Amino acid sequence: MHDDTLKERVGEEAYNVLAHGATEAPFSGKYVYEKTSGTYQCVACGNPLFSSDAKFDSGTGWPSFDAALPGAVIYKEDTAHGMHRTEILCAVCKSHLGHVFDDGPTDTGKRYCLNSVCLDLEPKG
Ligand SMILES: [Zn+2]
Repeated sequence: MHDDTLKERVGEEAYNVLAHGATEAPFSGKYVYEKTSGTYQCVACGNPLFSSDAKFDSGTGWPSFDAALPGAVIYKEDTAHGMHRTEILCAVCKSHLGHVFDDGPTDTGKRYCLNSVCLDLEPKG
């Protein structure tokens, strides 16, 4: 998946996030304020990742969700940059998507912090 074809298809910025774990600049992504109902899919492989019902405004500048679809993502310990975080990867193509934190404001207590460039919104209907 992480080859030149993907890079050509999604562009260099998205490729650096998906394949190398880079982070897009806050408030730069197209889905930060997105309210459309639908399903957010992995931009690399089309795997359904998050429902728009789980999306909330975290104020961080990145699209945020309080839950992932069952089995959609896998979790990996990330100790880069002197921090202890949990990285989230697409369960199908293993692309980097973002991180998940335990300070979510809803009942799940989770805050999935995503890069817009990793997502592709499939509107409902
Ligand atoms: Zn994927």
